Amino acid sequence: MSITRRTLLVGAGAGAVGLLLSACTPEPQPAPTRTRTPMPRPTAPEAVPAPAGWLRSTWATDPYSHGSTSYLPAGADPTERQRLAEPVLDRLFFAGEATDSDHPGTLVGAVDDARRAALALISASDDTERLAIVGAGAAGVIAARMLADAGHEVTLFEAREHIGGRIRSIADDEQWPIPPQLGAWLLSEADLASLDGRLVDLGDRSLALDTATTWNAEGETEGLDGAPIAQAVEKAQAQASDAAITDALAANGADLDDPALSASLAWMAAMTGADPSRASSWYPPHFPGDGVHGMIGDLDAYLGDQLEGVKVATASPVARIAYDDRGVSLRLGTGEALSYDRVIVTAPLGVLQKQGIEFAPALPFSHRGAIAALASGFIETAWMRFDEAFWTTEATIWHVAGGDALIRTWLNLQPFTGEPVLVGLVGGADAERFAELSERDATAAARASLAFFAAPADDEG
Ligand SMILES: Cc1cc2nc3c(=O)[nH]c(=O)nc-3n(C[C@H](O)[C@H](O)[C@H](O)COP(=O)(O)OP(=O)(O)OC[C@H]3O[C@@H](n4cnc5c(N)ncnc54)[C@H](O)[C@@H]3O)c2cc1C
Repeated sequence: MSITRRTLLVGAGAGAVGLLLSACTPEPQPAPTRTRTPMPRPTAPEAVPAPAGWLRSTWATDPYSHGSTSYLPAGADPTERQRLAEPVLDRLFFAGEATDSDHPGTLVGAVDDARRAALALISASDDTERLAIVGAGAAGVIAARMLADAGHEVTLFEAREHIGGRIRSIADDEQWPIPPQLGAWLLSEADLASLDGRLVDLGDRSLALDTATTWNAEGETEGLDGAPIAQAVEKAQAQASDAAITDALAANGADLDDPALSASLAWMAAMTGADPSRASSWYPPHFPGDGVHGMIGDLDAYLGDQLEGVKVATASPVARIAYDDRGVSLRLGTGEALSYDRVIVTAPLGVLQKQGIEFAPALPFSHRGAIAALASGFIETAWMRFDEAFWTTEATIWHVAGGDALIRTWLNLQPFTGEPVLVGLVGGADAERFAELSERDATAAARASLAFFAAPADDEG
């Protein structure tokens, strides 16, 4: 059954972080017309052909991200983000998705928060000051643009050889009909509209993924039902202490081994990075609202358009940040040290947690407490292009229910591109496992995860 409507639950409590998850309520409609007699699907990876094109992300093991998004684990609350966002001596300003309170963990959050930090810095400084930004992801680029527009000279230091951070498009016309996106590209309609023109000029370069199907070993089955999660969270929000989402489900009598429930949790994790066995019920993870829209094109290049007039130093990891009430010194990985009046730090939460940058003196307790209290979420993605389609469904979002698939969410781009391209999304602890696999094992895991969708060889006609 196709999911035709998604209703969203809003986290309880004033100022709750945001939206929880799709309740995925199917509208009453006739049972789908089956074109084939139901029969057990093949489950061996060989049932799915080897891809002609393959790309995947490994954000979990990347030293310049150590994760994909931030979220609140059970017991943490949104004030942690505000504490991390507090300027230190009016010299160091933190910004990015982890310090945004309204849309944390998202591109919209990163962009909004960059504006907040840039405005705070502008009001603390005069236009003769030397300014720097650490990190050229969405937040760093937007902050740099604002400071440059306000007449400041600003230098942007980026550890990688390219800008974009957790936005990563691979432009390769020969291999792919559209540039694979290894980082963020999926947004709610409202978030897409909010970013268009602010982050990138999209024009009509987006696509709507708005038809979903769920498959198990026997073929197409009932759509996902987020209601058990929504109910468990609602009950947990009335309790005296916070509980992780899976604990809330267990307390509410849910069967965590139920294939439909685990597919719903996998969908939530793939879209938010949050591990349901850690994520707070009181402040459940943000979920991109009704329907998912994909930004297409070379997003890194669009982002680069924002950097006219900004000095950009790529392949320049900042190893140490020394600060006092007179200024900030950045020491690069090369050993070079440079002095600035004020600095915005947009390095991801995972980098701060793993102490990828040394601060001298150590950051105030409240900042260190906030860094420790927030959780790094994981999302990984696998792009696969096949010589020909081995599937029969035209739905654009596929869920895998049951079995032992590592990747339980797939996007079918064939309806848009005309070419057999599938995109796997995996979140939470499974994403960490996926990132650690060798290329060979990762490809095998992806193929095995698609086995339910492969037409059996003797099922022609
Ligand atoms: C696979 C994946 C899917 C996602 N899906 C979505 C989605 O669908 N929708 C959505 O809204 N969000 C999504 N996100 C989250 C989104 O990508 C982030 O919220 C956003 O891009 C964060 O921007 P940022 O500028 O805060 O951080 P980043 O983009 O990570 O930028 C930080 C920059 O700092 C650099 N850096 C790190 N250490 C150093 C150092 N020592 N010195 C100098 N530079 C350093 C990094 O290289 C990076 O470029 C996804 C993320 C991933 C990984």
